[in-house]
Formats: sequence, C-alpha cells, structure tokens
Amino acid sequence: MESETPRFAFLPCMAKASASLIGHNTRGVSRAMSNDYPESIAELDLDAVQISPAILNAVKRFASSKPYRGSTRRRIQKFSRAIHDICDAAGVERPRLLFVPDETQDSGQSACIPAIRTIILRGRLSVITSLHEVSHLLNGPSEYVACAWSLRLFRDCFPRSWSRLRFDGHVAVVTRDDT
Ligand SMILES: [Zn+2]
Repeated sequence: MESETPRFAFLPCMAKASASLIGHNTRGVSRAMSNDYPESIAELDLDAVQISPAILNAVKRFASSKPYRGSTRRRIQKFSRAIHDICDAAGVERPRLLFVPDETQDSGQSACIPAIRTIILRGRLSVITSLHEVSHLLNGPSEYVACAWSLRLFRDCFPRSWSRLRFDGHVAVVTRDDT
C-alpha cells in the first residue's frame, strides 16, 4: 500500500506553533491542523483551480516518470527532477530540496520554508505531499489552496491513483500505482 497524505490531515507546514488539534489518523495518532486546512475533500472545488498548461505538462511528465517505481534513490531523483521541472514551468527559482525518506513514516512532517526556498520531504515519498509543498512555494501559505492545487493536479495527472484514493478519516491511502 502506498500511503498518500493529502495535507489537510497533518501538521501544517508553516504554522505548527499555532496549530489546533482536530484530527486523528488511522493509527490513532493525534494530528494538528491549522484552521486554514479544509476538513474534507468535499470542501475543495478542484475544477475551480487555475493550472497553467506548462505546469500541467510538467506534472504529466512527473507521472510519466513513474514516481512510485524504483529504488528510494531513484525515486528521489524523479521527485527532485519533477519539482525542479514544475518550478521551471512556473518561472520561479528552483528550491533547495532535502529528503528524509522513511518507509515506516507517513509524509505528514514534510515542510516548505519559502524564506529560504527549501522544501523538506520526510517519510514515505508522496506525490500529493510533494505537490502540496510546491504549491506553498508557488501560491503562498494558504493550506486550502495547497490542498486544492495538489489534489487537482493529482486527479488530472495520476488518474489511476486518484481512482484508488480513499479517505480514512483525514488520511488518504492509495494502493501502489502502476502508472
Ligand atoms: Zn501546507
């Protein structure tokens, strides 16, 4: 099983100190969320999200690279390339990327620190989380926007994974994808 973690379930990337506790994941671990996070996918109007063709194509190339496949080292290369590709498509400076891979942990402790143009991806490599953190770089601190932007791109560029996505409370789980 590939655990995808739409970030409305997890510690907010940039507002951990002011987080309020509202959720539990499937393992019963308390999760903190900022009030800005949507409480469920039903709150998100994915069709209203504006995505430029260049960014859409960059994420489609990410999908074509089969990011769920390969060794951790190889997958980190795919994720790095994709994040740089998306930033190039958006016309923004490429961020510094730090990977702390751990197959036993979800990706909920990942973060984007725009002030130092750094994205930290922790735990299981997650397409949704990586897109979410890139959204913070491109679109600012809004968790609502980051969730909608990342899930819209995931829906449109990873349709097979999207179709397998199910929400256990606030945590989405997708079976390992072959796309
Ligand atoms: Zn976030």
